[in-house]
Amino acid sequence: MPLTLALARERAEGECRTALVPETAKKFSALGARLRMEQSAGAQSHFLDTDYAEVDFAPGLPEAYASADLILRVTPPSLDEVAAMPEGAVLIGLLKPFESRERLAALNARKITAFALELLPRISRAQSMDALSSQGACSGYQCGLIAAARCTKFFPMLTTAAGTIRPARVLVIGAGVAGLQAIATCKRLGAMVEAYDVRAAAKEQIESLGAKFVDTGVSADGSGGYARELTAEEKAAQAERLTKAIAAADVVISTAAIPGKRAPVIITRDMVGRMKYGAIIVDMAAESGGNCELTQPGEHVIANDVNIHGPLNLPSRMPTHASELYAKNLYNFLSPWIKDGELRIDWDDEVVAGTVLCRDGATVHTAVRQILGDA
Ligand code: NAD
Repeated sequence: MPLTLALARERAEGECRTALVPETAKKFSALGARLRMEQSAGAQSHFLDTDYAEVDFAPGLPEAYASADLILRVTPPSLDEVAAMPEGAVLIGLLKPFESRERLAALNARKITAFALELLPRISRAQSMDALSSQGACSGYQCGLIAAARCTKFFPMLTTAAGTIRPARVLVIGAGVAGLQAIATCKRLGAMVEAYDVRAAAKEQIESLGAKFVDTGVSADGSGGYARELTAEEKAAQAERLTKAIAAADVVISTAAIPGKRAPVIITRDMVGRMKYGAIIVDMAAESGGNCELTQPGEHVIANDVNIHGPLNLPSRMPTHASELYAKNLYNFLSPWIKDGELRIDWDDEVVAGTVLCRDGATVHTAVRQILGDA
């Protein structure tokens, strides 16, 4: 029997993306896979059932998953969804691996082999599979748009008959994939952009986009190309220099993150108190606790006439392109292991070994095991 690849509609609140788009369905089918999909599973991303020529449709999730060998998802499955998976199936998605011991236990109880794309090694060969990057780019772009739409000022310089308008000042804190996209978006809209990151490589990347690097003298490269947590002295040095830049900004976009940890608190209540009246903070780190002390995840709060936005699931605001990129990441990860309609995974491959979360009824990822135990 050829490999059956299955997809159900994403049921998490506010989730509009899908893990299989018509283009990747065609490509999986060309590799010999059978495709089974819940009706209307692509509709929230504006892909119609009729766009998926190679797919058999099922009326609901249980029927879609019933004979699945390989299940594609965007978000982690609920416990009920895990229960609907055939024992021993392979699951791949953004599974929030550090979030729930209960979910891990449920996956292990059903002997699901689970790949969590958040764990994908950030190496050159894996760039085309890197869902954190593709979705981060969507998030950064959306942050720039939210900021421009909510700002009480023009982003570009404007020369009008009534006089000249100065461009808005934007500060981007955290210049990883999302932060760099936020910088590029705000630059395209004509704002004056400054940016800051603790990784040494970020300076050159910020400047290559035409933004000014804010130098706090703090450098904190960690392992795997990521930042590490700052020491108390480093935090104080960073705060001293950033307070001035934050006070001068009309818009602050913050995207700073440390993998597997709460987002660092960089913008304190006191710093908000020194900001311009009417200024805006778009805190992309809201999902993992927020870079601003006053951020409420999913809310818009006003403090000292500063508008603090903590938007959640930003890629889902542009589900068509976010899904296209995400679905291609999945195809690029899986396609080397599908031959003649069969899934033959090389467990020694560096990318596979780094991304696998559970296998044969056990949690196998070392960092997840250290934090959540064996589950
Ligand atoms: P991330 O989402 O984990 O963090 C966002 C940014 O916040 C990072 O740039 C980080 O340095 C920064 N940050 C953390 N603490 C901070 C603090 N206290 N103050 C200011 N900034 C702080 O990062 P990401 O966007 O996923 O990317 C992280 C790294 O991985 C980058 O170096 C990126 O170039 C690299 N990367 C490599 C590949 C690849 O080769 N496959 C793909 C994507 C990203």
